[in-house]
Amino acid sequence: MSSGIAGRPWNSLSFRLTLWYAGIFAVTSLVAFFLFYLLITTVIREGTDQELAGQAEQFSLVLRERGIEAVETFALLEAQAAGVKKVFFRLLYPNGEAFSSSSMSYWQDIAVHKEAVERLIAGQRRVYETVLLSARKDQVRVLYALIGPGVILQVGRSMESSSRIVAAFRGIFLTTMALLVGLAAGVGWFMARRAVSGVEAVTRTARIVARGSLEKRVPVKPRGDEIDQLAMTFNQMLDRIQTLVTEVREMSDNIAHDLKNPITRIRGSAEVTLTTARTLPEYETMAASAIEECDRLLDMINTMLMISKTEAGVEMPAAGEIDLAVLAREACELFGTTAEDRGVQMTCDLPAHCPLRGDARMIRRLLANLLDNALKYTPPGKTVTVSVVETGQQALLAVRDTGIGIPAGDLPRIFERFYRGDQSRSQTGIGLGLSLARAIARAHGGEIAVASTPGTGSTFTVTLPKPGPQPADKLL
Ligand code: ADP
Repeated sequence: MSSGIAGRPWNSLSFRLTLWYAGIFAVTSLVAFFLFYLLITTVIREGTDQELAGQAEQFSLVLRERGIEAVETFALLEAQAAGVKKVFFRLLYPNGEAFSSSSMSYWQDIAVHKEAVERLIAGQRRVYETVLLSARKDQVRVLYALIGPGVILQVGRSMESSSRIVAAFRGIFLTTMALLVGLAAGVGWFMARRAVSGVEAVTRTARIVARGSLEKRVPVKPRGDEIDQLAMTFNQMLDRIQTLVTEVREMSDNIAHDLKNPITRIRGSAEVTLTTARTLPEYETMAASAIEECDRLLDMINTMLMISKTEAGVEMPAAGEIDLAVLAREACELFGTTAEDRGVQMTCDLPAHCPLRGDARMIRRLLANLLDNALKYTPPGKTVTVSVVETGQQALLAVRDTGIGIPAGDLPRIFERFYRGDQSRSQTGIGLGLSLARAIARAHGGEIAVASTPGTGSTFTVTLPKPGPQPADKLL
C-alpha cells in the first residue's frame, strides 16, 4: 500500500490536505484582493468625479459672472495649469458641436458622445463616462455638464497616475500572495505530515503483524490525541488477538494430547486382542473397554463443543422459570451417595425456594461440575457444604469444601480450558469442568469466583442475577 503511495505521492492524504489548505488560502486571498481592488478603484474614481464636478461648478460660476469669452480663456488657463496632457476642456453647443477647447493634441481620440449630450438636454445634471485611449493605453474619465443656458462643458482627466497606483498594488499583492501561498503549502504539508505520521505508524505495525509478528505494537505517545487513542485501541486489539491465538494454540495442543492417549489405548488393546486372544469373552472385554474409552472421548468432545457454543452465544440458555434451591437440593441428593462412599460429609444449607430465570439443564451441569470437583479434591473425613443465599437482585450459590485447596499460582488459570492443577493429576478429569461452569454462569448474566487456601479448602461462588419485578400489566 505504501509502495503505491510512494510511487504516486498525489494519492497520499498529506498531499491532498496540503493542496486543500493552499487552495483554500489562495481562493480566500484572491477574494480579499478582488474586494480591496474594487474598493481602491471606486475610491479613486469617485475622487476624480468630485474633482471634475468641482471644475464644472467653477466654469458655471465664471460663465454666470463673466460671460462666455471668460469661460473660453478660463478653459485654456486651467488646462495649462494642470498640464495639457492631464486634462482637457471642450465647450459644446446643445447639438454636440464644439465651439471652443483647450489644447486637444493629446486627446484627438476623444469624440463627443452624442448620447451623453442628449441625456443632459433631457434634464440629467451630469453625465460621466470612462474612455480607453487604445493608442496611449490610458483611461480617461470624462464629465459632461450643462454649465449655463445652451453651453455644455466636456471635461476629461487622465487616470494615468491612479492606474499606476492600482498596477503597483496588483504587483505587490501578487508577489505577496505567491509567497504566502508557498508558505501556506509548506505549513500545510508540515501539519498534514504530523497528523498522518501516527496513522502511518499504525499501518506499518499492521503490515508487520500481517506478516506474522503478533508481538509487534504501535509506539504510543503521551499526548493522548485521536491518533494515540487509535494506537492504543489497535494495541489492545492485538493483545486480545495474541491471547486468543495463544489460547487456541494451547487448546489444540491439549486436545491432541488428550485424544492421543485414549486412541492409543483403544488401538493397543485391539492389536493385543487380535494377536493373542482367541475366546469370545476376551473379544467382549476388548469391545467393552473400547466403548468405555469412546464414551470418554465423546464426553470430552461434547463438553468442548458446549463450552464453545455457550461462550460464542450460539447455545443460549433457555429463559425458563427455574428454582435454584430445588436444583441444588436435587444435586445434593444425587451426589450424596458418592460423598458417603468417599467418607466425605456433605451438608446442604438451602432455602425452600430461590426462583430464577434460566436453563435448568445447564444449571444442573454447573452444579454437577462443582460438586464433582469438591468431592474429588476433598479427602475422607472432611466436609463439603452447598448453600444458596438471596441478596437483593442476586442469588449466590456457594460450594465450599475443606479439601486440598488450590495453590495461589493455579488460581488465575483453573477456569482455562484443559487446565489441570499438578495435585489433581491422580484424579480423573480432563480440565474442562470449570471452563464449562464459567461459560454457563456468564451465559446467564452471572459470574463464578473462587477463594482457596492450600490445605484448608476452597469455596466456589456463583452469582446469578434475579429477575426484576414484573411490569404491572404482566401481573394483572
Ligand atoms: P478437572 O477435570 O481437572 O477437575 P476442572 O476444570 O474441573 O478440571 O478443574 C480445573 C482444576 O482446578 C483442577 O484440575 C484442580 O486442580 C482445580 N480444582 C477445581 N476444583 C477444585 C477443588 N474443589 N479443590 C481443589 N482444586 C480444585
